[in-house]
Amino acid sequence: MGYIELNVLNTGPAQSALGIDLGTTNSLAAVWRDGRPQVLKVDGRSSLVPSVIYFPGDGQPIVGREAREQAIADPEHVLFSIKRFMGRGLKDVASELERLPYRASENERGLIQLEARGRKYSPEELSALILMKVHDVACQSLAGQDTKKCVITVPAYFDDTQRQSTRDAARIAGLEVLRIINEPTAASLAYGLDQRGKGNVVVYDLGGGTFDVTVLSIEEGVFQVRATAGDTHLGGDDFDQRLADLARKAIAAQHGTRVLEDPGFQQAVRLAAEQCKIALTGDPEAELHLSIPELRISWRQRVTREEFDALCADLHERTLTACRQALSDAKVRVSEIDEVVLVGGSTRMPGVRSRVESFFGRKPHTELNPDEVVALGAAVQAHILMGGRRDMLLLDVTPLSLGIETMGGAVSKIIDRNSTIPCEATEGFTTYADNQTGIDFHIVQGERELAKDCRSLGRFQLKGIPPMPAGLARVAVKFHIDADGVLTVSAKELGTGANAHIEIQPMHGLTDAEVEGMLSEGFRNAREDFEARRAADLATELGTMIQATEKHMNAARAGLDRESVRDLEDALTAARAALQSRDPKALQSSRDQFERATLPLAALLMNNVAQKALMGKSLGEV
Ligand code: AMP
Repeated sequence: MGYIELNVLNTGPAQSALGIDLGTTNSLAAVWRDGRPQVLKVDGRSSLVPSVIYFPGDGQPIVGREAREQAIADPEHVLFSIKRFMGRGLKDVASELERLPYRASENERGLIQLEARGRKYSPEELSALILMKVHDVACQSLAGQDTKKCVITVPAYFDDTQRQSTRDAARIAGLEVLRIINEPTAASLAYGLDQRGKGNVVVYDLGGGTFDVTVLSIEEGVFQVRATAGDTHLGGDDFDQRLADLARKAIAAQHGTRVLEDPGFQQAVRLAAEQCKIALTGDPEAELHLSIPELRISWRQRVTREEFDALCADLHERTLTACRQALSDAKVRVSEIDEVVLVGGSTRMPGVRSRVESFFGRKPHTELNPDEVVALGAAVQAHILMGGRRDMLLLDVTPLSLGIETMGGAVSKIIDRNSTIPCEATEGFTTYADNQTGIDFHIVQGERELAKDCRSLGRFQLKGIPPMPAGLARVAVKFHIDADGVLTVSAKELGTGANAHIEIQPMHGLTDAEVEGMLSEGFRNAREDFEARRAADLATELGTMIQATEKHMNAARAGLDRESVRDLEDALTAARAALQSRDPKALQSSRDQFERATLPLAALLMNNVAQKALMGKSLGEV
């Protein structure tokens, strides 16, 4: 394995900061040393820490290799794949919980907690334990030099809540996060692809539990993430599951289905499947072998690479579908891609490499160890942030649109998806009812037109608006995403200065369907969404018209002829019925009827206003 030489200035700072890849399966730290990023090694061995925690009967939790070794002996007290639970609620991860031998519950904020030895732990606390271990190992390899500063990577698809959870984990671990960066961006840095004058890069990252594909462009050494797509529920674990299912079926046929429930069996089958998968990377044929004396199980079957590939054909296809999506979002054709980078342990699979190569029509970069490339890139970024190297600028994008629910349930998008971060956008809102002294804000994320179809990020209230007629208050709502992807939403009433902001509470995570389909769902439902959005907007408009007309009905009865009053009353009745039905056609026609019926009233009110204005004023003043 060789390193790509990075042509950079080596005006290194005295103090170093860690680059940490906090992975679903493994975590790893790297640091900038001797003019290049290096993975830290302890006694010549890679400092890769399996992201696994074992809770022994007494004493402190154990993290890493030893914990992983306990997975068969004492499976109930071993926790793994914790990254999948960051910032999520129970219902979001229901399908995973079925497969994993966990006890889990929800705290009062709807966030998941995993149980071990009768104690409940948040994913942040558990990730903190992993980060502490990574930090300990790093300090050992840095000959005792302690650095608390770090850059941590997250999948490009992590939303704000999940990024915040990662920050929280680091804080619990006593680390100072210089920046959270996207894994594909880190990988590009590790390969020094910024050295290209101009070009487009695809980073295909298939790890243990997540899949990301990112299209980046480089111009004069500046990276820009053009688009990201992916699947937070697709990774090496799924390839393991295909082999595990094969074993389960065969073993259930011999030993009955009860054995499938045994936690020890579940762990053993998982490990055997992974071993077989890894063996198939080196050899064209391997053995899937399970031996559990306690359950009197000894079972083996030979599997060829072709058979394994066939079992996983749909998984490969899902990654390529995401590649197509990312290219189309980035408006870049396959032929315009100059470099392809493979990241994540699962890209060692020959089946993955050959499919990626034929899809993009070029050999992907595999020179760096795919398990290390993200940590190496994080170390490059850490070095830059510590003042070591300044000849590069990183631009990331927000993967999903962010907006606010408006009256009637529609969404007003404030920051569009794939906006380069950090970014900021402000939009004006007003009150809907007379004398309304507060406004509820509902922050949502996603590509759908109605708030109910998007992901709810949180709510907050702006109070202290002085009583005034509807529509007069001027409220500026600001969305700010900082360089780490953290979102702050603030609202300010411009007259009084009353203000409020949201601290996004990770109340609900994404459901499985939302995670996997938020983007394609938006696309699939575009037509229906358009109709629903039109109905919502019409309903809001009609509601405002009804309110205003009701307020002036007495004036209408006093000042208009009988026919006009009857038209107004008919229009009001039709409008109320249309509001009940929510039918877009009925809403549209009653809005038009309403508009016609209110014309005499509008003229009357204008006259009244004009008369009042004239009273007490000389002609010359008007
Ligand atoms: P990561 O999350 O990037 O650390 O990737 C871990 C995943 O890579 C796990 O699913 C591993 O089983 C998988 N992996 C590691 N080495 C190999 C290999 N030689 N062949 C196939 N998969 C591998």
